[in-house]
Amino acid sequence: MLGLRGKNLLVTGGSSGIGQAIAVRFAEEGANVAINYRRGLKGAQATQQQIESQDSKVKSLLIQADVGVEEEVIRMFDTALAELGGLDILINNAGFLIGGESHEASVSDFMKVIATNLTGAFQCAQLAIKHFLAEQKPGVVINVSSVHEVIPKPLYAGYSASKGGMGNLTRTLALEYAKHGIRVNGIGPGATITPMNDAWKDAPEKRAIVESHIPMGRSGTSEEMAAAAAFLASDEASYITGQTLYIDGGLTLYPEFAVAWSTD
Ligand code: NAD
Repeated sequence: MLGLRGKNLLVTGGSSGIGQAIAVRFAEEGANVAINYRRGLKGAQATQQQIESQDSKVKSLLIQADVGVEEEVIRMFDTALAELGGLDILINNAGFLIGGESHEASVSDFMKVIATNLTGAFQCAQLAIKHFLAEQKPGVVINVSSVHEVIPKPLYAGYSASKGGMGNLTRTLALEYAKHGIRVNGIGPGATITPMNDAWKDAPEKRAIVESHIPMGRSGTSEEMAAAAAFLASDEASYITGQTLYIDGGLTLYPEFAVAWSTD
């Protein structure tokens, strides 16, 4: 991809799944990568090992921080900026969900999900943009959102609200900073084979049920998500800002309309 070689990237939640694939893919493209992790040191080390085994000359480093805690995010940025010598690309990938019937859910669980998935993403974007402006250079922010940016997810109100909010965060920041050459976009994964889906990914019957709802008939891979993130961060996407690109095998296409039922 054009324009990624030599760039400095910070990816949050880089110890597994999509974040890990993003770190590895950007390193393959020649970017230096700061890999944030919260508790998964082993996973983060595995990400770094994959990068080192590529035989590329890129720099990689691990930064422990909880993206949902303001002081830790500030420390993470200080470390990333100092160690990489600046930042060009931020990928807000860290995210999780807590399930339960909405009328029974605790407000504190709702807020925990928002704190990481939305407030954390906002704070990271804010610090990245502050740096881009101070250095008077263009920059890129990619928000790893979800199909649940637009599709409601019953039993996961906090997650739905966080990803819906992330969509407007993407558009708002894109509009606010377009004049500075700062591009802000999102990717919206559909069902992706990562630890987040441990409940069904290795259980053939459950997985078949999930995949029966996907027009392309299969889940996505972390590498497919990373490819889209790399495209949006690259100079190939130099005129794209404020968009969420859904990578979902057609899940956002109202799959039930694949057969005529409404007018016949
Ligand atoms: P995952 O569980 O493998 O990865 C999530 C990562 O975020 C983990 O490494 C976790 O440790 C990290 N994380 C969570 N809270 C954190 C915090 N407070 N601070 C720092 N790190 C934190 O799952 P994944 O599927 O790779 O998820 C990555 C992103 O993709 C998430 O934002 C998720 O919402 C989104 N997504 C995933 C799917 C899917 O089907 N897997 C679908 C749509 C969107």
